[in-house]
Amino acid sequence: MDAEKENGAHCLILPHPTQGHINPILQFAKRLTHKRIKITLALTKFTLKTTTGFSGGSISTRSISDGFDEGGRAHANSSEEYQARFQQVGRETLAELLQDLAGSGRPVDCVVYDPFIPWVLDVAKGFGLLAAAFFTQSCAVDSIYYQAYTGELKLPLSGGEVVVPGLPPMKPEEMPSFIHDHGSYPGTFQMLLNQFRNVDKADWILINTFDKLEQEVLEWMSRFWRVKAIGPTIPSMYLDKRLQDDKEYGLNMFNPMTNTCMNWLDNQEPKSVIYASFGSLAQLTARQTKELAYALTTSNKPFLWVVRSTEESKLPEDFSKSRKGLVVTWAPQLEVLSHMAVGCFVTHCGWNSTLEGLSLGVPLVAMPQWTDQSTNAKLVTDVWGVGVRARADCNGIVSREEIVSCVKSVMESEDGKRIGSNAVKWKGIAREALDLGGSSDKNIEEFVTEIMLKRYPL
Ligand code: UDP
Repeated sequence: MDAEKENGAHCLILPHPTQGHINPILQFAKRLTHKRIKITLALTKFTLKTTTGFSGGSISTRSISDGFDEGGRAHANSSEEYQARFQQVGRETLAELLQDLAGSGRPVDCVVYDPFIPWVLDVAKGFGLLAAAFFTQSCAVDSIYYQAYTGELKLPLSGGEVVVPGLPPMKPEEMPSFIHDHGSYPGTFQMLLNQFRNVDKADWILINTFDKLEQEVLEWMSRFWRVKAIGPTIPSMYLDKRLQDDKEYGLNMFNPMTNTCMNWLDNQEPKSVIYASFGSLAQLTARQTKELAYALTTSNKPFLWVVRSTEESKLPEDFSKSRKGLVVTWAPQLEVLSHMAVGCFVTHCGWNSTLEGLSLGVPLVAMPQWTDQSTNAKLVTDVWGVGVRARADCNGIVSREEIVSCVKSVMESEDGKRIGSNAVKWKGIAREALDLGGSSDKNIEEFVTEIMLKRYPL
């Protein structure tokens, strides 16, 4: 056996530079290192410079450029400008990096990339490498975007129920926002469709989900691609506990107020706290922030609410005097969700937050804002039965009364008991998927074996 083969393969991991995309692909990378794959994580220069908390362990980091080394995405005038520049500068700097690694004595065998940046696949194939597209959204949502890409799903929608293979019939407003509100954010929608423009060239399609969670749609997609569900990509110590040092995602674009949150939670009664968070990107309107603020204060329950510093100015003026809870600019979300004091999670239903709530057995109040969140909310409420949907009024605002009623339904009602027992059931199934011999564990194992066989045939 030659030395390279003995040492296992080398994967270059390339995330899209946002928190919700870095977290899952990095977790997958950690699982690979556990199976003797060498990992190099390529981050944009700006991400590498501005994130905290990453010790790396056996994962080495390198940088490429998105063309905005000083300010990142925020310094671009539009999504279109950012994507175009990232593609142009990213291609060149990725090729330089691959060239450099090729001469390092440990060349890259396989590139695992986020299809939000599909040009990575073209560069990898230009170097003759294996490549895996790593989808960070649900298989349901990937499938819907694929149908839109092929034209099977006709846009704009005609108004009736939408039927997509492998999914329950959905109302138009349960589709991702770019589909339902066709024409909104055209640059972002184009990026989502572009995920598929070259995906047939990828050797694998990896999806952050698990077989039992999205069985039908995964089976449908497996008819034409080599699909492997490898999730939920949550640190091992919250699931199977086989990676002893894997307690957090470990690469923070925001600073978690860990001690403040955990000390406060330690002083609350079991299952009494409402945890509210809308992820790293969503921007609630001032009106919606006010409704949520009043809902939390009038619920008569302790609450822990994440309001990012860029959103703080929307808090009502009298709020700080009346509040019964804790407001922080960023929380250690996994630690919070697994704390016994937390009784429900008011969430925007970003895919990571959805999987985290589900995998940690916390009932959800779904308050989707845009993008894939309305589809995730549909699955949460009607398919997996782990939460209720807080509905917006005709002005698009979820009223304080609606939020309070949803929280009470989840935390106090008979229906809440059904939701609570479903949440516990899914927690067990999620853990099983990643435990030794579970469906995702097997898929990761197969992926590793296949890389070795393709690179170093017997
Ligand atoms: N998150 C966190 N602390 C917070 C809010 C969010 O650590 O206060 C993490 C959360 O655990 C999740 C990610 O940020 O892993 C957000 O991803 P998601 O897909 O839910 O939403 P996005 O930010 O992409 O809209």
